[in-house]
Amino acid sequence: SNTRIAFLGLGHMGLPMARNLAAAGYDVTGFDVSPTAREAARAAGLAVTETATDAAADRDAVITMFAAGSQVLGAYRGTADAPGLLAVAARGALFVDCSTIAVDEAQEAHALAEAAGARSVDAPVSGGVVGAENATLAFMVGGSEADAAAARPLLEHMGARIVHCGGAGLGQAAKVCNNMILAVSQIAVAEAFVLGERLGLDHQALFDVASNASGQCWALTTNCPVPGPVPTSPANRDYRPGFAGALMDKDLGLAEQALVRTGTDARMGLLAREIYREYAAGAGGQRDFSGIITDIRAAGER
Ligand code: NAD
Repeated sequence: SNTRIAFLGLGHMGLPMARNLAAAGYDVTGFDVSPTAREAARAAGLAVTETATDAAADRDAVITMFAAGSQVLGAYRGTADAPGLLAVAARGALFVDCSTIAVDEAQEAHALAEAAGARSVDAPVSGGVVGAENATLAFMVGGSEADAAAARPLLEHMGARIVHCGGAGLGQAAKVCNNMILAVSQIAVAEAFVLGERLGLDHQALFDVASNASGQCWALTTNCPVPGPVPTSPANRDYRPGFAGALMDKDLGLAEQALVRTGTDARMGLLAREIYREYAAGAGGQRDFSGIITDIRAAGER
């Protein structure tokens, strides 16, 4: 394709995503504020510039994959010393933010893009580093019908499933709602296994029943928190992630913001937020979030 792409944020997710676009034949220039990340990206064969301005100048599409919303808004706006991405990209360029950020921050990014005459989508992902490497990510897209359609060919080279969720910010809304379900269900599954243990119920027996009954969910059938029933789940490798507690904690922080802003009565979601905040503050930050079962088991020991 002759779409010229700038890819900013070459971290765990961004670098493999940028590489997949380059491998698909796009002209991609990358940039990261971290010199180490720039070096790693060059070593991986990506064209990397020394400034954000050089990466984005006259580009038709600008993709960002940062940790936080403040970084996205800061990069879009620029500073006193350097123009923002919106000012230097080609006229009418398509801005695709794949970072996981708050819904209202995403809506602010869309407003900045619109004011600059650019097109924009929020397009957070699920699927983790493995999904980024294998181009099997799921994208949750927010923005106009036309802008989502324009982004789709690019996203197809980085992911396997692309859902247009609605207008500005609604990709982030879908992501935050999904992860709140996930957090609550992972805790519920862990609690059920610990209760089963105390009642003398075999892990496999509980799994065989619940996985074919109304307790069925991803937290049980894919991310089973006890070793054995699902050999590929993190429980079988001492809870090596997977999806690290620190990332779940971050996403639940965004859920809490959205719950408070909308006045939603979500007691389970807020309790999950507290439970994972504690988990991530300790060793759980670097362990899979299904390892919460070890804390539940230890807390109830008497
Ligand atoms: P990361 O910290 O590895 O990468 C982010 C990169 O952005 C860093 O290298 C940082 O230096 C760079 N950066 C920050 N501000 C910048 C700027 N202004 N210009 C250029 N570069 C800048 O994070 P990650 O694991 O790649 O995650 C990225 C996003 O994807 C996060 O929002 C995360 O929540 C989300 N996410 C991550 C995963 C995962 O498994 N890692 C899964 C789904 C979603």
